[in-house]
Amino acid sequence: EPVIVARDVEKWYDNGFHVLKGVNMTVYKGEVLVVMGPSGSGKSTFIRTFNALEPYQKGSIEVDGITISHDLKNIEAIRREVGMVFQQFNLFPHLTVLQNVTLAPIWVRRWPKAKAQEVAMQLLERVGILEQAHKFPGQLSGGQQQRVAIARSLAMQPKVMLFDEPTSALDPEMVREVLDVMRGLAKTGITMVCVTHEVGFAREVADRVVLMDGGYLIEENTPQEFFSNP
Ligand code: ADP
Ligand code: ADP
Repeated sequence: EPVIVARDVEKWYDNGFHVLKGVNMTVYKGEVLVVMGPSGSGKSTFIRTFNALEPYQKGSIEVDGITISHDLKNIEAIRREVGMVFQQFNLFPHLTVLQNVTLAPIWVRRWPKAKAQEVAMQLLERVGILEQAHKFPGQLSGGQQQRVAIARSLAMQPKVMLFDEPTSALDPEMVREVLDVMRGLAKTGITMVCVTHEVGFAREVADRVVLMDGGYLIEENTPQEFFSNP
């Protein structure tokens, strides 16, 4: 069952740069898809279109049956379905970990505070930072902050999680703890699209690996086949 269907997606940035040159991709329910490719090839831009963070000009993108309009008129519906984790954690520095995680459920989903907190605490436990619930992001390591960001996205109960180089800003010793959380998440059956250079993660966790280059999707394969090429 397809969750994301991208057809002939083309995008130009305002300065005229043709960043996506007709990309086709289908992501199926429960699948972990890893997007690889050189820096500047359009990976980040492409997955940002799935969350209506970037407009696109040609083709179509459907998320769970909703077509993202070129003018991004239906952003709210899409954002509820699609969570995103960035390279920079983008936490609110003046809010505690718990407040960061409950903010959207309370204000967007209109959950009662107690329910939002209960769900948030369960998520913080799942990503291994329950003890940090009442700290501020600045008091946490990068790996801990990224795990908060993952919990915050999950709190909205998205159908799809997008990861945009989630470990690239981390010191090496913190990469593993974030990848472990992502591995655990993959096992829950949530649909995941991950831009990452972590070959080990792609080999072990991905159902499919796609390669982008110069605004095109140039290869799509199982990790076994993808990494066996000479
Ligand atoms: P990747 O994620 O593969 O590194 P990106 O999607 O971030 O690639 O960027 C693809 C290309 O688009 C790069 O050459 C980048 O400089 C360019 N680009 C990104 N954002 C903008 C922007 N706002 N305006 C113009 N060009 C941009
Ligand atoms: P990423 O690490 O996600 O690939 P980049 O380093 O390419 O991101 O870009 C960081 C930010 O700068 C993004 O918001 C992107 O849109 C913007 N940006 C990148 N390249 C350009 C460009 N050539 N012109 C304008 N903005 C750009």
